[in-house]
Amino acid sequence: MANVKLIDVSKVYKGNVRAVTDFNLNIKDGEFIIFVGPSGCGKSTTLRMIAGLEDITSGKIYIGDTLINNVEPRDRDIAMVFQNYALYPHMSVFDNLGYSLKCHHEKKEVIKEKVNNVAKLLNIKELLERKPRELSGGQRQRVALGRCLIRNPKAFLFDEPLSNLDAKLRVQMRSEISKLHKQVQGTFIYVTHDQTEAMTMGDRIVVMRDGYAQQIDTPVNLYEHPVNTFVATFLGSPQMNIFKVKLVEDKLYLDERTYLVVSEKIKNKMIPGYDGEELILGIRPSDFDIATSEDYDFKVSQIDLVEKLGNETLLYLDLPGREENTIVSLKMDMGDDLKGPLYLKVNKDKIHLFNDKEESILKINEFNYIPVSLQLCGEDLIVEKEHKISHFKDKCVSEINEINQGLIRIPSTSFTLSRKNDDDFEVETIIKAKDVRSDANVYFAERKEDKSRITFITSKDEHLKIGQNIKLYAPMSSLGVSDDEGNILMVNDDIIKPIIDVETKRIGKEYYILHQDKAFVKAHKFLLIEKIYDLNSKMLLCVINQKKEKMSLRIERDDDFFNGMLLYTKTVKNKTK
Ligand code: ADP
Repeated sequence: MANVKLIDVSKVYKGNVRAVTDFNLNIKDGEFIIFVGPSGCGKSTTLRMIAGLEDITSGKIYIGDTLINNVEPRDRDIAMVFQNYALYPHMSVFDNLGYSLKCHHEKKEVIKEKVNNVAKLLNIKELLERKPRELSGGQRQRVALGRCLIRNPKAFLFDEPLSNLDAKLRVQMRSEISKLHKQVQGTFIYVTHDQTEAMTMGDRIVVMRDGYAQQIDTPVNLYEHPVNTFVATFLGSPQMNIFKVKLVEDKLYLDERTYLVVSEKIKNKMIPGYDGEELILGIRPSDFDIATSEDYDFKVSQIDLVEKLGNETLLYLDLPGREENTIVSLKMDMGDDLKGPLYLKVNKDKIHLFNDKEESILKINEFNYIPVSLQLCGEDLIVEKEHKISHFKDKCVSEINEINQGLIRIPSTSFTLSRKNDDDFEVETIIKAKDVRSDANVYFAERKEDKSRITFITSKDEHLKIGQNIKLYAPMSSLGVSDDEGNILMVNDDIIKPIIDVETKRIGKEYYILHQDKAFVKAHKFLLIEKIYDLNSKMLLCVINQKKEKMSLRIERDDDFFNGMLLYTKTVKNKTK
């Protein structure tokens, strides 16, 4: 088995149909990953590029350490299970299972042993003599799975394998495939448009829309912390209720009279700056509960429909802030005596808030910005009079001769709770809110000095309390520097050699770096792009040469560049800048 890595993968079909754009994913060895999304969002295309059934327009795909962009499908050592089982109708189940081994001239006894093992694993031992037409749909699907298992491939790809089965069988096969994954511990990549299938089977899910991966996370994290309204409403059944609201101080107004008070937890998770703005409020049906006339959020005089599902009751009713019915799910049998007004309460720590771009505003900052004093000292920069950033000028994205103040940029993932190096940058905070996620703890804190918002991520074992004072430390190598407006002045890490301004030119399918210096061209026959920074009108490329030396190049903006791309060098007579 192997890991599978997709780097900036895009697919454009003839007629300029963009099916997949800039897809990045690192699938771990043995992981069960699901691609889910509505029809036409690019799931199958992505899977087919991994399988080698479609060319990759740009980007790279690795299986294990091997770049497979130009490897023939049959040499990629992966197995694909389709919805139409593609069994050979004239062969017995035994022969169908053993066919690929036979083609590889495997000995008869070996074939027999392997077929028997796989048949035992899939519970189809008694079917080995039958022909495919003598099997049920579920049995055929099992044989198709067995045929893949027998080859012990590097990864299994599934393209909607259960969509031809009836509902009952689908549920059964779903759990069988999950069990099988645990037994063989293989890398499984599974495409479905069915959100229940996705939520119940995958270790991680990639939610796709219009060719873009919207969010990649565990089922629980996606359900509880969707990054936008698309993910929020796509996962979960019945769907999340979406309301138009206006935030005024700590109240969310659904209409002029009806409002929900924002809880302390949500207030502390919210990105600041949305007071007075129109927002989108999301409430899952299960986050409503019955309340009393003394303490309630909504008073409802009429219920349009009651659906009793046994373990839960769904109510369809009208609330302000949305035109359609709101669905409320109650974990109880409501009985038939729903007379008089109904009082409802909302679990206010569990609401979701999105801005007018439909992006969640309850999210962790990718970077935290802290105002600091700055001082140039030769080639170095001194932060807050005591922390040195060596070779600052070399790492700057433009020439800087004077600077007194600015912002340092600290990634939320860079903080530690204890000092690791003497010169670590220290931030004093108070913990304000906490999210327990399936793989990490997320903390929303306030910086003591200026009450600005600091977010950070810790492992699941670190338990900090709300209200606790915490000192956070960030290694100097993780810091970036911006001016007061947040424009990047210096990028962090990686950049150890001076930035060189270069021109690039596309010749045929390849990109060349043009340079007048023959020595440069000779020393760097080709350069591999490791990382790209966006500098508004320009781009900064962190590259390594064939001797594994790092350097950074600044070029005019060109969106066709991607991580992992190879650039070649070429001497030009004209002086380039
Ligand atoms: P999904 O599997 O999510 O339903 P697909 O990957 O099949 O989506 O398709 C993504 C997009 O690419 C769709 O707009 C589809 O019409 C288009 N597409 C798929 N295959 C081809 C093809 N062979 N030629 C042109 N367009 C295609």
